[in-house]
Formats: sequence, structure tokens, C-alpha cells
Amino acid sequence: MLCAKTTFICPECGEPHIPELPHNLTPMYRGGFYKKNGRGPNWEDAAAHCHPDVRKEFLRILKEVKKEYRQKKEPAKSRP
Ligand SMILES: [Zn+2]
Repeated sequence: MLCAKTTFICPECGEPHIPELPHNLTPMYRGGFYKKNGRGPNWEDAAAHCHPDVRKEFLRILKEVKKEYRQKKEPAKSRP
């Protein structure tokens, strides 16, 4: 599946991704979501259409990435 060169461009976020995976929080996606819901989307909204297992795994990874990002930010304090 991954080697197939189908350039699917998601009509909701305008990015190429497998339809079963979460949208990217692009300005296009944010705009469309805002029009429909009257508020900005978060990552949970971007993954709302995914299979529950995919969504769970995606949100778990997202949490890990956020944690790593925070840890990377902290050493910046020791700059001269
Ligand atoms: Zn998308």
C-alpha cells in the first residue's frame, strides 16, 4: 500500500495522506472546520474520522512527541 504512488490529496486538509489517517492541521483544514463547527480544531478532531485503534495510537504518539518537545525545550535555559 505504501509503495503505491497514488497522490491522494485530502480534500479536507489539502495534504497528501492516507484517508484512514488523521488530517494535518493546515490552515485549509482549520478554516473548513471552523466554518462547520464555529471553533478551531485540535488533534483529536483531526483524528475523529479514524478507526478507534488508529485514533488511540495516534493520540498516544502525539503525547510522546509533546513530552519530548518539552524536554528538548528545557536545556535551552543554559544558553550563555
Ligand atoms: Zn486530511
